[in-house]
Amino acid sequence: MALRTLEYGGPTLRLPSPVLELREEQLGRRGVRLILKRDDLISRDLPGNKWRKLKYNLAAAAAAGHRTLLTFGGAYSNHIRATAGAGSVFGFDTIGVIRGEEHLPLNPVLAEATDRGMRLVYMDRTTYRSKHEPATVEGLRATYGDFYLIPEGGSNELAVRGCAELAAEIEDQVPDVDLVCCPTGTGGTLAGIAGGLGAGRRAAGFAVLKGAGFLVDDVADLQRRTFGATTDNWTIELGFHFGGYAKTSTDLTAFRTQFAERHDLDLDLDLDRVYVAKMMAGIFSMTEAGRIPAGSTVVAVITG
Ligand SMILES: *Cc1c(COP(=O)(O)O)cnc(C)c1O
Repeated sequence: MALRTLEYGGPTLRLPSPVLELREEQLGRRGVRLILKRDDLISRDLPGNKWRKLKYNLAAAAAAGHRTLLTFGGAYSNHIRATAGAGSVFGFDTIGVIRGEEHLPLNPVLAEATDRGMRLVYMDRTTYRSKHEPATVEGLRATYGDFYLIPEGGSNELAVRGCAELAAEIEDQVPDVDLVCCPTGTGGTLAGIAGGLGAGRRAAGFAVLKGAGFLVDDVADLQRRTFGATTDNWTIELGFHFGGYAKTSTDLTAFRTQFAERHDLDLDLDLDRVYVAKMMAGIFSMTEAGRIPAGSTVVAVITG
């Protein structure tokens, strides 16, 4: 599906996003090559995996004649911010349904969303739990008129298809890739990458939520809905949440600081502490534990 019906008014999207090999003595010693896939450099307005996930949704919304996008998220949601960015760039009105009450002044994420023209509305936590149910959605349509609905976190079949393209890009750029790693929130990115990879290659997701065992079912379900079947080439690591969503720990902070010290000259990259840093710390730890075999070429997706 091409984005024929969409006019992109912003700066050019950097696609395919660049790859670069990271020199890391600790990994080299174990015979592991690590390559970064810089999806964080795709665009300032639409960074990282959020562009992959929104792309076909935007095309579908435009093709069906929708003028408004509505989606859901917590007060610190990157997906809310990205949907607002996509709306401003592609000319959709956007409504962000935020879990809980309004807190003023707005935090930086929501302030940026409103700067991009998003209308924020708040939903109490009880109703929010039923946000995707038909009665709740009908209620929203009655209040706000017609819209194209993107689920919380943006993970639906079209999002998974967009993320499958990431796998194809990586295989083109790094033909000997063995393992593709990504941070995991809702699992859409992992479902797509794993579905898009060719035979013999594997994907690993690093859950940023605590107690995220449910993701195994969620990812399988997303794959079934998108591809008609699951693939058996992926795993989810549940041991690298460092305290849970948006939480950090002294270990993770030390990892980020040391990473920045090693790479301040060769990389313009401050590891995102909610997602990317947890995956990177996980890759190092798995390598050290011998869980990534010597001779492996690992690609880490810098999702934002
Ligand atoms: C949203 C987000 C993720 C999570 O992606 P899922 O498809 O929900 O698993 C990972 N990394 C970054 C930087 C994100 O903003």
